[in-house]
Amino acid sequence: MKILTIVESKHQGNTLKVAKAMAREVPMTITDVKGASNYNLDDYDILGFGSGLYYGRYDKELTRFAKAINDKPRAAFVLFTSGINAYSEKTDPLVNLLKRKNKNVLGLFGCRGHDKFIVFRIVGGLNKGHPDEADLKNARDFISGVAESYENAKKKKGAAIMDCLFCKIINGEIPSTKVFENDMVYAFRDISPQAPEHVVIVPKAHIKSANEITEENVKYIAAIWEAVPAIARQLGIDGDGYRVVNNCGKNGGQTVDHLHFHLMGGREFAWPAG
Ligand code: 5GP
Ligand code: ZN
Repeated sequence: MKILTIVESKHQGNTLKVAKAMAREVPMTITDVKGASNYNLDDYDILGFGSGLYYGRYDKELTRFAKAINDKPRAAFVLFTSGINAYSEKTDPLVNLLKRKNKNVLGLFGCRGHDKFIVFRIVGGLNKGHPDEADLKNARDFISGVAESYENAKKKKGAAIMDCLFCKIINGEIPSTKVFENDMVYAFRDISPQAPEHVVIVPKAHIKSANEITEENVKYIAAIWEAVPAIARQLGIDGDGYRVVNNCGKNGGQTVDHLHFHLMGGREFAWPAG
């Protein structure tokens, strides 16, 4: 498991201190926002984001960086140090931003920092000495928990994929009659055809159903629809027309939990659908 933690720790270095404590518990690479461009985010399983809260706000550069990331869905965590403000996972602006970016936020860690900026002006030394040993111990426990939930989620997902009929067809474990293939799409003849021509088109990513289409994976849907006319031409059904169907969930009649489209032709179809 590889972790990249992006920390902006401008005033007292408190957040960096917390991140370094975490790095003693679970190996991780720590960088600031500027340095983050030297890393390929795709190489990492978990992204950490941390800064001090300045008047309740995360560091601007860090927020901008989080807003701009546009990579695959993946796990993330957030840490902050703060003189006075604190967020819960529900209210934390950075957690919410990352969730909107399709990140699976595994946790939020906050602890008090000795931030002159806020402390001296508002509460007067309340947090002197923080983060202390107890805070750093909590940080280490937190990151162990993050690592553990990541491994558990991975195991669960791995099991789902290992059990998936269409993933097995895609990787050749189960034979199929291939009709079309590119980087993102695999299409094969349905084992129980409902029309003279009946092809199942699937994304080469384990997306369970139409309910799991997201901003990040919708490119697979575009690729499937790009393949549709090409496959129809190949089957010689483009002229007379065809039907494309996606069954979703119980009421839709989905029997295989890997998103797929049926492309059927060679006869007329009734409407409304049964
Ligand atoms: P659903 O009912 O989920 O919309 O569609 C699943 C489709 O996959 C069905 O039409 C079914 O006939 C097809 N199918 C199920 N198992 C296999 C298989 O092992 N090989 C092939 N080629 N098609 C299958
Ligand atoms: Zn699958």
